[in-house]
Amino acid sequence: MDWYYEGERRPENWKNICEAFKKAENESLQSPIQLCEQSAKKNQYQKTMNTRYHLTNFETSFFNHTVHLTPLSGQEVNVLFFNHKRYILDDIHFHLPSEHQINHESFPLEMHLVHRSKENDLLVLAIMVIPNKEPANLEKSRLDSLALNPRVSGRGLLVPVDVAKLLPIKKQFFHYTGSLTTPPTIGPVNWVVFKNQTYMRKGLLQAFKENVGKTNRPLQPLGNRTIYLSE
Ligand SMILES: [Zn+2]
Repeated sequence: MDWYYEGERRPENWKNICEAFKKAENESLQSPIQLCEQSAKKNQYQKTMNTRYHLTNFETSFFNHTVHLTPLSGQEVNVLFFNHKRYILDDIHFHLPSEHQINHESFPLEMHLVHRSKENDLLVLAIMVIPNKEPANLEKSRLDSLALNPRVSGRGLLVPVDVAKLLPIKKQFFHYTGSLTTPPTIGPVNWVVFKNQTYMRKGLLQAFKENVGKTNRPLQPLGNRTIYLSE
């Protein structure tokens, strides 16, 4: 079922496109949300998060209105442990501008690292990306301008990406339970959102903006949810 970020089938109307989209939106708490340091719970319900990421070959593609990178089949080497549970990275994609806000601030780009456990539970690690500061993590990871160009990435480019280098240096994170941010917006999804940003060269960000355009779902109601902030 086709959906878009603008026009008749924009995010506010996704629930009217089909029963499956409506069901997903009604049945689980939605994402993205506003993440506020002041109201987040600290020193309680502390979850541990560790990543074991490596240089991996990814294949690029273009769907759901953005660029995706998926590890070549059998490449299950990028592992994240959240509260001692094991998740495997199976997709990296981008939203422009950011979907989550941190302390009421929006960012030029948000990167989603989508992980799955063997029971098929979802965990998305979200990283805000800002331009113009050295060293630029995205380039260090070998994710280059070609891979981020939808005209090229749509043809299935093979790119090595050093996933560990995509992450910010400070690993403090927000955690809450929500949904996918693209239809069907099913949940529950474990969200881990880094408080600190990672960097991308200004020119590369600009090129991505020109080629991809707006791909962010607006903020959703927090509802009866608690947001946690790690140490
Ligand atoms: Zn996403």
